[in-house]
Amino acid sequence: MAHQWRGVIREYMDRLPFTASDPVVTLGEGGTPLIEAPALAKLLDVGSVHLKFEGMNPTGSFKDRGMTTAVSKALGDGAKAVIAASTGNTSAAAAAYAVKAGMQSVVLVPAGKISWGKLSQAVAHKAQILQVRGNFDDCLRLARELSENYPVFLVNSVNPNRLQGQKTAAFEVVDVLGDAPDLHAMPLGNAGNISAYHLGYREEVADKRIKKQPMLYGIQAAGSAPFIQGSPVAKPETIATAIRIGNPASWDLAQEAKRDSGGAFGSVSDKEILWMHRFLSQETGVFVEPSSATGAAGLHKLRQLGELPKVNSIVITVTGHGLKDPDWALKDQNGRKIKPKKVAAAASSVAEILGLERK
Ligand SMILES: *Cc1c(COP(=O)(O)O)cnc(C)c1O
Repeated sequence: MAHQWRGVIREYMDRLPFTASDPVVTLGEGGTPLIEAPALAKLLDVGSVHLKFEGMNPTGSFKDRGMTTAVSKALGDGAKAVIAASTGNTSAAAAAYAVKAGMQSVVLVPAGKISWGKLSQAVAHKAQILQVRGNFDDCLRLARELSENYPVFLVNSVNPNRLQGQKTAAFEVVDVLGDAPDLHAMPLGNAGNISAYHLGYREEVADKRIKKQPMLYGIQAAGSAPFIQGSPVAKPETIATAIRIGNPASWDLAQEAKRDSGGAFGSVSDKEILWMHRFLSQETGVFVEPSSATGAAGLHKLRQLGELPKVNSIVITVTGHGLKDPDWALKDQNGRKIKPKKVAAAASSVAEILGLERK
């Protein structure tokens, strides 16, 4: 009989703070494909590149890994409602897992800065959505304050249960490759994800499944790059809304991840992000939201500068699905809207437009 993936808590229970009697709220998250991308290996001039396609999670981003653990713990603690600040994907995940748990969800999103795809998910899963006149950092401050003073449970990545769930992505990479890659890159926003991978890989080393953790590379958008600037950015700006964060919550953990793994932080312009967004769609077959192209864009830039370390194997996490924010795919390089050509309903007309010769 085919085996159905049981979600990250049940698949990795012995390595998570859960026991068999704890409630588990799951939508079957994790077990996402690790896709070989020879076109990227060629572009970066390395032996192999694999994309960890986190868009294949139930709500379309890696946030589901941390939401299953955070909401399960909240349910175990008797919570009736969860609250999250979000640039979009956390709210989509919080809303869906709250439904599964039979709880209310409240999401605070920055006014006007969230994609329709993500907002539609929160609406579909009947979250109470409030658009805050402010940015993500304001939303997180409010969510923290509300959870401290009112009966709502915070499920942002400052909740340590989120990182516990998210670390399972590192376990999956090792399970599939049989080892850690030399280098692992990803977009860097609030810095929960890079901190979670660090946690996961460190545990793999401690458990002697791998000898050495990969160098962790976190890539920011240039207009929203506090880790490059060395201090918070007051007015973060980028089209990569999922990483439009000026004051990352997991600042210290991310610095530790970089230092301990011998990794680096980098940044790329919105133009470089959109170039890679297109490259991933057209050359690897993997459709991601623009923010998710940031890790690969950063490595490409380093390679062009001659600053990519000599490594053999690379894994790049692509964090969310392209359908979350599809408008970007419907514009050409010059920002013009792409519209399919109209044609008469006759094979000869179609063949003519396609430039096909009759057999
Ligand atoms: C949340 C998110 C990020 C950023 O992850 P952090 O843990 O905040 O660094 C990147 N891409 C997507 C699609 C996300 O949803």
